[in-house]
Amino acid sequence: MILHKDLEKVLISREEIAAKVAELGQQISADYEGQEVVAICVLKGAIIFTADLLRHLTFDVTLDSISVSSYGHSTHSSGVVRFLKDLDESIEGRHVLLIEDIIDTGLTLKYLTENLYSRKPKSLKICTLLDKPSRRLVDIKPDYCGFTIPDSFVVGYGLDYGELYRNLPDVGILKPEVYRA
Ligand code: 5GP
Repeated sequence: MILHKDLEKVLISREEIAAKVAELGQQISADYEGQEVVAICVLKGAIIFTADLLRHLTFDVTLDSISVSSYGHSTHSSGVVRFLKDLDESIEGRHVLLIEDIIDTGLTLKYLTENLYSRKPKSLKICTLLDKPSRRLVDIKPDYCGFTIPDSFVVGYGLDYGELYRNLPDVGILKPEVYRA
């Protein structure tokens, strides 16, 4: 495997990701068997995770997406959350599975879940590929989590820095000089 020049190291390989996504898919499928669920992809970071996860779900699922601003070109949360794209359909009375790339401070997800709860879904669960619990500022926990990771800034498999690196198949730690430059 060739390491991208801007990565310090690969944290989670594509093989480890694929195995975990399949495992999560099985777990979620068992929990929702026989139900119909709206999967909401939190753009853009969760696009690749959502695309892979959905193919492991065995119940009836529809797909919607939502977009809120997070860091822009910085590596730290401003705590200011801005809506960029709303859902296409109503979620009232429906089972909702919110699919995130990473939970860091939890500020984005807290804002999002409060907003979604106000639309009266039948249920709302959170699935995240990555979790950095050591950085949490608000009390929020995912129902399904792929990997708990240490406090490093990661990119790849959908996660970006300044819109780059989403296409990398592995999740890697970005060299600090890249974001300090
Ligand atoms: P929070 O509001 O939980 O602090 O941040 C959530 C959002 O910040 C994520 O959806 C993601 O867009 C971004 N984020 C947090 N940590 C990282 C990270 O290590 N790498 C990247 N690329 N984005 C991150």
